[in-house]
Amino acid sequence: MSNYILEIKDLEIDYGIVKAVKGISMHVEKGSIVAILGANGAGKTSTIRSISGFTKVKDGQILYNGEEIQNQHAYKIVQKGIMQSPEGRMILNGLTVEENLLVGAYSIEAKTDEQGVKTSRKVRIKGLLTEVYGYFPILLERRKQQASTLSGGEQQMLAIGRALMGAPELLLLDEPSLGLAPLIIRDIFNIIKKIKEDGRTILIVEQNARQTLKIADYAYVLEIGKVKIEGKAKDLLNDKDLISAYLGVV
Ligand code: ATP
Repeated sequence: MSNYILEIKDLEIDYGIVKAVKGISMHVEKGSIVAILGANGAGKTSTIRSISGFTKVKDGQILYNGEEIQNQHAYKIVQKGIMQSPEGRMILNGLTVEENLLVGAYSIEAKTDEQGVKTSRKVRIKGLLTEVYGYFPILLERRKQQASTLSGGEQQMLAIGRALMGAPELLLLDEPSLGLAPLIIRDIFNIIKKIKEDGRTILIVEQNARQTLKIADYAYVLEIGKVKIEGKAKDLLNDKDLISAYLGVV
C-alpha cells in the first residue's frame, strides 16, 4: 500500500475563461509537511480549496487514502479527516476565542477504539481543546475574550487551532504567514513543525518560501497553474538560483 495520504493527478480548475490550475500532479506522504509555493495567482489557493471541497474541479483526480474525493461536499471531506485553515483566517469576530474553537469541533463524534473503549463527544472535544491550548497557551489565556480583540498573530493561531479541533489527519494551511511580523511567523512555523512531529500530516500554501522550506519536507513550486519545480525542501532551500528566480528574496 502507498504511504501517500493524498495524491493529486492531472488536476484542472477553471473559473470561466480563467484557467487557474492546468494539470498539476502532486503527492503528500503521511506524517510529512508538504509545501505549495509560488507567486500571487499561481494557483495555490485554488488547489488547496479543491482538496477541501470549496472549489470545483474541472478534471483530474484527488485521492485521499486511495479514495477519490474531488467535487465531494466540503462537510463530507471534513468527516473524512481533512480540515483547512483558510487564507484570511475567517475568524468569527462576535464569538469568544473558545467559541471559535468549538465551531471547529462541529464534526466530532463519539469514538470507540480497537479495544472497544468508547470516548464521548464531550470528552473528545475537551481533549482537543487541551491539545490546542498546549500548542497555543495564549489562546487559553484569552479564551473568554472576543476574537475581534486578538492580534493578527493570535488570530492566525486561532484559525489553526480551530482546524485542529476537527481532529484532522490532514491539515491544510493557506498562507498562515500572511500579514504577520517575522518573529511571529517564526513562532507559528515552529508550532506547525511541532504539530507534524506529533503525528499529523500538513499541506501548506505559502508565498514566504524560505521560511516554509525550513519546516517542510517536500515542496512544489507553481507557476501560472503548473508545477514548475518539485523536490525535497532541503535541496530547494540550498538552490540559490532557484530561490531568486522563482521564489523572490524572502
Ligand atoms: P494568491 O496567493 O493571490 O491567493 P494563488 O497562487 O493562491 O494566489 P489562486 O488564488 O488559486 O492563486 O488564483 C489563480 C488564478 O485564478 C488567478 O489568475 C486568479 O485571479 C484566478 N481566480 C481565483 N479565484 C477566482 C474566482 N473565484 N473567479 C475568477 N478567477 C479566479
